[in-house]
Amino acid sequence: MNKIGLYFHVPFCRQKCAYCDFYSVTDPSLLAPYIEKSAEMLLLWREPLKDYEIDTVYFGGGTPSLLEKEDWERLLGAMRENFSFAPDCEITAEMNPETVTAEKLAAFTAFGGNRLSLGMQSANQTELARIGRKHSPADCERAVALARRAGIRNVSLDLIFALPEQTEKGWLQNLETAMSFSPEHLSFYCLTLAEHVPLYAQRSALPSEEEQQKMYCSGIGLLEKHGYLQYEISNAARPGFESRHNLKYWRREEYLGIGPGAHSFFGGKRFSFAADVHRFLTAKKWEDALETCEAVLPADAAEERIMLSLRLAEGLNLAGLEREAGAEKRFLVEKKLSALLPHGLCRKTETGYALTPKGFFVSNEIISQLI
Ligand code: SF4
Repeated sequence: MNKIGLYFHVPFCRQKCAYCDFYSVTDPSLLAPYIEKSAEMLLLWREPLKDYEIDTVYFGGGTPSLLEKEDWERLLGAMRENFSFAPDCEITAEMNPETVTAEKLAAFTAFGGNRLSLGMQSANQTELARIGRKHSPADCERAVALARRAGIRNVSLDLIFALPEQTEKGWLQNLETAMSFSPEHLSFYCLTLAEHVPLYAQRSALPSEEEQQKMYCSGIGLLEKHGYLQYEISNAARPGFESRHNLKYWRREEYLGIGPGAHSFFGGKRFSFAADVHRFLTAKKWEDALETCEAVLPADAAEERIMLSLRLAEGLNLAGLEREAGAEKRFLVEKKLSALLPHGLCRKTETGYALTPKGFFVSNEIISQLI
């Protein structure tokens, strides 16, 4: 049976964080109609997915932990009733630490929820307040403890580095504190600020690019020392706890995204819903809520393969690229990648090339030269 990942977007937040450029709305009155509409939308996918088994589900946001017990029951119940699930399906929910409760976790795990991704962001109260987060480091520790009590054996913590006035030492302390909570997985993102977000006013207090690179590389070294191996630009895990859902994106496997702003890769097409809750709520059929829809041509597939596999520590498989795009493309890409070897930006693997941490930090520049 074909396998597919299901992404469900929850575009609601209590308030906007000072650095956030993601689409989400803060009107709680829209949440109940949104849950109902989404459950209806899910049914429309019963026929297209009849030959598929769902082996990963990811509730992302926004703030999925704003969903109450009844919402989890409605959504996960509708998914379970209408689709075929793999017995070991990975079901993740992103949650903000201050909104996690035992009751919500019980509803989530009752339908097979087994992985939590907590938005910790920093272990320093001053930094959390500066970026507009409403939780404390203690809230995060409490949320991890609640997850363990609910039987969740796979917890991921999200952290942001290069915050205003943050030093390398401060960043490494944050990582140490996060690891002291014993998560199985850690994500680490470099702060980037769009011009229209409130924190942009503090851009002069951001670490320099050189400092950011040092933070990134020393963070990866520290994680490795504690048994968290980097498997993607911004992700490290204890062996066996890599995010199976997110790996689908980078390995070009199929996934279906439901909700405003959600993206899909299904049946040789990439499509996305418009980032607009109102349009989603008033759509008669799911196509009405789409923003983009394009067939992936063979040439695009090869470019995607290069771009996505170089995000991963497993790197680019050159034989696979040759099968997809021909010997000439392989030759050109190999030539460019081998030129990066003396600079310590990439390394050879058994099947091709992968970027080093130093290379990951400038991966956008490297990839744009390759494609
Ligand atoms: S909780 Fe997440 S999505 Fe919501 S405003 Fe903060 S960073 Fe953005």
